[in-house]
Amino acid sequence: MLDPHDIELPRKILIGKGVIEKAGEVAKSLGLFGKAYVLLGKVGYRLAGDVVLNSLSRLGFNTFDKEVKGNEREHEDVLQWATQIKPSFVISVGGGTTIDLGKYVALQLDIPFISVPTAASHDGIASPMISLKGLALPYSLKGKPPLAVIADVSIIMSAPHRFLASGCGDAIAKLTAVRDWKLAHKIKNEYYGEYAASLAMLSAKLIMRHAELIGARDEEGVRTVIEALVSCGVAMCIAGSSRPCSGAEHQFSHVIDATAPRPALHGEQCGVGTIMMAYLHGINWRKIKRALKVIGAPTTARELGLDDECIIKALLEAHKVRPRYTILGDTGLTREAAERLAKITGVIE
Ligand SMILES: [Zn+2]
Repeated sequence: MLDPHDIELPRKILIGKGVIEKAGEVAKSLGLFGKAYVLLGKVGYRLAGDVVLNSLSRLGFNTFDKEVKGNEREHEDVLQWATQIKPSFVISVGGGTTIDLGKYVALQLDIPFISVPTAASHDGIASPMISLKGLALPYSLKGKPPLAVIADVSIIMSAPHRFLASGCGDAIAKLTAVRDWKLAHKIKNEYYGEYAASLAMLSAKLIMRHAELIGARDEEGVRTVIEALVSCGVAMCIAGSSRPCSGAEHQFSHVIDATAPRPALHGEQCGVGTIMMAYLHGINWRKIKRALKVIGAPTTARELGLDDECIIKALLEAHKVRPRYTILGDTGLTREAAERLAKITGVIE
C-alpha cells in the first residue's frame, strides 16, 4: 500500500504587468485580515515595497515592514520581530533570501505566506523549500508553500538579465534532476511521482524551446521563465520534496556555495552542473549548453567567475552533500573522471 500523500499548493498565482498593486486585493480574496508582516529585500524595497505596503493599507491591513539585509543568521532576528508583532500572515517582496525568510517565519508561526518575487532567478518563488545561511544544512529544508504568488512582469523585467538567465539555469536543471530521480527509483526503490516529474520536465523543455525569446528579453520569454519556475515550485509541492527539481547538478552547486570564496548565482551554477550531469546521463549536453548560451547564462568556470579546481572539487564532493542517490552513485567520481568530464564539456580548459 502507498502512504497517504498530502499535497498543499498555492491557491492564487498572479503573473502580469502591474499586478503588485493588487497585493491587498489578493490577500483579502484569500480571507486574510489583520496584521501583515512585510519583508522587503533591498531591490524589493526600492521597486515594489511602497506599492505593496500602500495596497495592503488601502484594503485595511495593518502593515509592519522590515528590510532584509542578507546577513548570516538573520532568520533569528526576523523571527523574533514576528513573534512580537504576532502577524496573521507574512508577505515577502524581494529576491531568494527575502522569500526564504518569509517562508521560514510563516512555517515557524504557522501562518500563511505570500511570495512577491522581484526577480525570476530560481524556483523558490513558488516552492515549499527553504535554503538559508545559518540553518546548518547546505541544501533546502521543507517549509511552507506560498498561499499566493504575485509575480509582476514589469518589475522582473527591470532586474538585471543575469537573474533571469539564472532562473533559466535552475529550470533547465530539471532535465538531469528528473533523470536522477528516476534512477533512484530504479536502483534504490525510492518513491517516484510521474506527475511531478513530468511537470518539472515540461518547465525545462519550455525554457529550451524559448531560449531565443528569453535571450532577447522579450516579454513573452520573461513570462515563460516565470511560469516555468512557478511550475517547478508546484512540482515540488506535489512531490512533497525537492526531488523533481534537484539532482546531482544541484549537489554540485551546493558544494560551490559552501566552498568558493565568491560563488555565482544558484541557477547559474546549476546550469553548468546540468551540462556535465547531462554528459554522464548520456543525453544531448551540447544542446543544453547551446540553449544556456543563447539565453546569456554562463557555461564555463571562467564565466561563473570560479577557478578550475573549484569545479573539480565540487564534482568530487557533490555525492556527499546529502543522502540522495544520483548519477554520481554512492561513491562519486574519481579525480581523473571529474577532470575529463569538465574538460570534455568545455567547462574548464
Ligand atoms: Zn534550484
